[in-house]
Amino acid sequence: MKLTVLGKYGPYPPSGGATSGYLITSNTQNVLLDCGSGTLSRLVSKIDIKDLSFIIFSHLHYDHVSDFGVLSYALSFSGKKGKVNVYLPSFESDVYSALSKIDKFNLINVCEDKVYSEGDLTFSFYKMTHPVLSYGVRLSDGISTFSYTGDTTVNDNLPRLLSGSDLAVCDGAFIESDYDDKKPHMSIKQASSLAKYSKKVLVSHISSRYSDEIVTKEILSITDRAEVAIENKTYDF
Ligand SMILES: [Zn+2]
Repeated sequence: MKLTVLGKYGPYPPSGGATSGYLITSNTQNVLLDCGSGTLSRLVSKIDIKDLSFIIFSHLHYDHVSDFGVLSYALSFSGKKGKVNVYLPSFESDVYSALSKIDKFNLINVCEDKVYSEGDLTFSFYKMTHPVLSYGVRLSDGISTFSYTGDTTVNDNLPRLLSGSDLAVCDGAFIESDYDDKKPHMSIKQASSLAKYSKKVLVSHISSRYSDEIVTKEILSITDRAEVAIENKTYDF
């Protein structure tokens, strides 16, 4: 499988950047995992929008969903037949209400005790800890496994989500000097320490206030099996 980082910033992008969004490619599927600001233009540089298989939203904060409106326009104009499945948390909000009005989307409210499948992929969801209902997701094509924490603090579900994965994208929003345990995200060091569960970790959801060099320094103080996510880069796993 392949992962392309479409956007790695939160909660807003720097000039030329994008907020959270990732493209997962398997033999038969192109999966859009979150769809933050600026990710659609990156997505259409990687695939024909007609070839988008389905969408997963980890949670409904704007920095993870804000391109959904223009994405629906792109899907409508693409000539793609039928609706696109959108797996998401059932969370009463203006965003959920707006999503539910989009013709091109077929919303599927996810739950933890179910294994979902589309094409060659199976996937399951794990409740995370964040101010809104938020899920991590684990996807596998039967050969490789990918895990994504979405936004979260450290919690007991992380080992189940991440154990044995080949690649994981983990929320590391703060350098240690800006972090305290009231924050709704993990620190860069906490995200890096999750490399004990996964072969490789990409630390993402980075504040645009931090350079990659600062983030990398914090990561390397914990492990050499984690690295900062790079936008537009494709990772094979
Ligand atoms: Zn969030």
